[in-house]
Amino acid sequence: MKRFKADLHIHSCLSPCGDLDMSPRAIVEKSLEMGLEIIALCDHNSAENVGAAMRAGTQKGLTVLPGMEINSREEVHTLAIFQSENQASSMQEIVYRHLRGTNRPELFGDQVVANEFDEVEGFNDRRLIGATELRLQQIVQEVHRLGGLCIASHVDRPAFSILSQLGFVPGDLELDALEVSPHHRPEAFKGEVTGLERFAVLSFSDAHFLEDIGKTYSLFLLDSPSLEEIGMALREEAGRRVLT
Ligand SMILES: [Zn+2]
Ligand SMILES: [Zn+2]
Repeated sequence: MKRFKADLHIHSCLSPCGDLDMSPRAIVEKSLEMGLEIIALCDHNSAENVGAAMRAGTQKGLTVLPGMEINSREEVHTLAIFQSENQASSMQEIVYRHLRGTNRPELFGDQVVANEFDEVEGFNDRRLIGATELRLQQIVQEVHRLGGLCIASHVDRPAFSILSQLGFVPGDLELDALEVSPHHRPEAFKGEVTGLERFAVLSFSDAHFLEDIGKTYSLFLLDSPSLEEIGMALREEAGRRVLT
């Protein structure tokens, strides 16, 4: 088995708050420069740039997992990470059916759909920054039904996190892991908040700018860079694990 350096929370220029330099291709190049071996592209409520990022990754030898950062009805951000583009597209369909409103670029920012050659393919006009009408519980269920992993985003942040919105992690919520923001060390956080002992705690960059990619990452001991292996590591199966 081998150690894999992973940053599974990166936004692209499709996120209204993501820098326009965050093209799928530039993200892949910067990730390699930072020594990352697995990344996940997780734009707000959309997976329209994951295909381009995956193709750019294949060309350059980087594993890119397709993901999304879904905003629940409770305004909790959750990472939904998949193995295939099809799975991510199916989740996106569900999200789009439960997302209202039109983007106002002058207020929220542009939402650029790009291809793997750094060309603009179009602009997404949905209000991607908004909350969906999906309850957190529903999101977790749908992500699992499609074969993905669900990781509660930046649980230590004072807004848009499960702890800020709900105050606790419901006992029947089957999250696969928790993410802490770059401000906390995962193992320290685990000791600070009670009731989180059952979860693996990870840390990623939540990069919206190229210079932040890979500044924060988690290390996994895996046989190969796949979602299935990451799932095994989160459950500490067959020697796979999260390294601190
Ligand atoms: Zn977030
Ligand atoms: Zn984010």
